[in-house]
Amino acid sequence: MTSDFRGAAHGVADMLADYLDGLPDGTVWAPMPSDARTGLLTRPLPEEGADLGDLVAAIGAELLPYPMGNGHPRFFGWVNAAPAPAGILGAFAAAAMNPSSAGGDHADVHLERTVVRWLAELVGFPHPPGGGLLTSGGSMATIVALAAARNRAAAGLGVNVREDGLAALPPLVGYVSTETHSCVRKAAELLGLGSRHLVTVPGDGAGRLDPLALRERIRADRAAGLVPFLVAGSAGTVNAGVVDDLGALSDVCAEEKLWLHVDGAYGAFGRLDPEAAPRYAGLERADSLALDPHKWLGVPVDCGCLLVRDAEQLRGTFSLVPPYLRDDAAGGLGWFSEYGIEQTRPFRSLKVWATLAAAGRAGVVRDVSRCCGLARELGRMVAQAADLELLSPVETSIVAFRWAPADADEETRHRVNAALGVAVQERGRAFVTGTVLGGREAVRACLLNATTTEDDLRVLLDEVRAAAAGLR
Ligand SMILES: *Cc1c(COP(=O)(O)O)cnc(C)c1O
Repeated sequence: MTSDFRGAAHGVADMLADYLDGLPDGTVWAPMPSDARTGLLTRPLPEEGADLGDLVAAIGAELLPYPMGNGHPRFFGWVNAAPAPAGILGAFAAAAMNPSSAGGDHADVHLERTVVRWLAELVGFPHPPGGGLLTSGGSMATIVALAAARNRAAAGLGVNVREDGLAALPPLVGYVSTETHSCVRKAAELLGLGSRHLVTVPGDGAGRLDPLALRERIRADRAAGLVPFLVAGSAGTVNAGVVDDLGALSDVCAEEKLWLHVDGAYGAFGRLDPEAAPRYAGLERADSLALDPHKWLGVPVDCGCLLVRDAEQLRGTFSLVPPYLRDDAAGGLGWFSEYGIEQTRPFRSLKVWATLAAAGRAGVVRDVSRCCGLARELGRMVAQAADLELLSPVETSIVAFRWAPADADEETRHRVNAALGVAVQERGRAFVTGTVLGGREAVRACLLNATTTEDDLRVLLDEVRAAAAGLR
């Protein structure tokens, strides 16, 4: 059995090294041939087991040829990174150890405390003992944060939500921007807050939450008998990479005693780029910050992270362990499962540790800065092109733009841009995704891959033009 494993594992290593080496020369993404798709969909449950070597061969033949595309240097879609090689190794080793990182005294639990601290140090967020945990992603980090925010607000009204439920509460109101990620709404719905009680505060053209409008709306809501409790700011919007004025939002939240949650799932690591860094001032004053190491850092999916100022808010929200039974092995912090929803938890910290240790702080800074620099360059190329229009200033590593030649009317522009992302994808040489920004159809390129070159940016714009010509 172990000798089988050894041989097959070497086979996997060779196969994956060839796969990763070959990615930049191949098609970025292509629709799956229908027989390959059908083969996967209709595969019967085998009666007898297979040899490990045959499984490796099947992975190579039936799965590796059909990737999502995000390992390629010209993949600019959504917010999906190429996997860091060290992170791949970390994921492999973590599976071999296969602990549950719920808690206890084993390596994975202690390593998670350290990588959470490292992540906090990287983005410049305070890190009290127990003030964070790894999650499946930004969405889960947001659910955990908003649950703690909700329970704190309820406690302020004398209600224990855990015992009494929501019926004992007046509507709690949260404030978001036009560009807030959908996961905030999902969390509010799930937590019984009601998306109707998430108020969209008007912003500037880039969708930045306007602190003055926010303050006015909070006061009006209080006067109407509602209970404001939360502001959700963005440290990098998914459409355009725009960072809210986090200092101003912190001021409002401090004065009004509201919970400030900052969504840094895409963009918090952008703070490491010296040019972008000043935009993040105030991030360290948030009550909670959601991060996604599985995005910009390239930690293999899945890995999100939630950081909080006050660890007791999390433990008070999720722990079902009575204080007299708490396990003090980890300096009184207890188990990770007391700070979130998951009980059995995967060993995510090993792939984070491996990714960060292989790059070093300096390596992460270099890669993040390179991505931001490439995005600024792409922004300049778009701004200088007569047939393209930059739709938002480039603040981090996302560039939102549209095809808009002078001789095309708005209706044609709308029609072409609405189909442009998919048309570029189907050509196979670059991958961007479409969006709607300020009511206009657009495409957006998200730069997360430090091996992308300026030539790749030129190819992207050539592909956009060629795809647009075809659609026109
Ligand atoms: C990706 C993303 C999320 C959601 O995180 P998941 O890891 O996909 O759950 C939330 N906010 C922003 C800005 C994102 O980019």
